[in-house]
Amino acid sequence: MTGLRTTPQRSDLMRRVRQSGTAPELLVRQLLTSVGAKYRLNVRGLPGSPDIANKSRRKAIFVHGCYWHGHQGCRRATVPKANRDFWSNKFQRNRQRDAEKLALLQAMRFDVLVVWECEVFAEGTLQERLSEFWHG
Ligand SMILES: [Zn+2]
Repeated sequence: MTGLRTTPQRSDLMRRVRQSGTAPELLVRQLLTSVGAKYRLNVRGLPGSPDIANKSRRKAIFVHGCYWHGHQGCRRATVPKANRDFWSNKFQRNRQRDAEKLALLQAMRFDVLVVWECEVFAEGTLQERLSEFWHG
C-alpha cells in the first residue's frame, strides 16, 4: 500500500474494511451499487451459493477470503505451522471445491468473477473491474 495517496475518506473506508471479516464483501456491494448493478446476495439456487449474483444477467461474484480459500501466491494465505499437512490439505480441498463450483456456473453460461480479499484494498481499480465485469 505504500506510495498510494490516501484521502481521509478513503482511510476511513479502509479502516472499516480491515475491522470486520465481512467488510470486503460489503465494499464490493457498495462499489457494484455505485456502478448501477442490481443483484441478489447468497444465491442458494446456484452452485456454490455465490455471494452476489444476477440470474437473468448470468453474473456471479464470489468474494473470497485469502486464508480459507487458499489464495495461491498471496501473503495472507499462510499455513499454520502446527498440523501443517492437515491445514494445507484443507486449504487445497477448499480451492478444489471453489474451482468445481466455478466450472458448474460457467457450464450454465454464467460470467463468474472471483474477488480476493487482498484485491479489495486496491479500491479504485476494483470499481473499474466490477463495472467492466457487470456491464461487459
Ligand atoms: Zn490474496
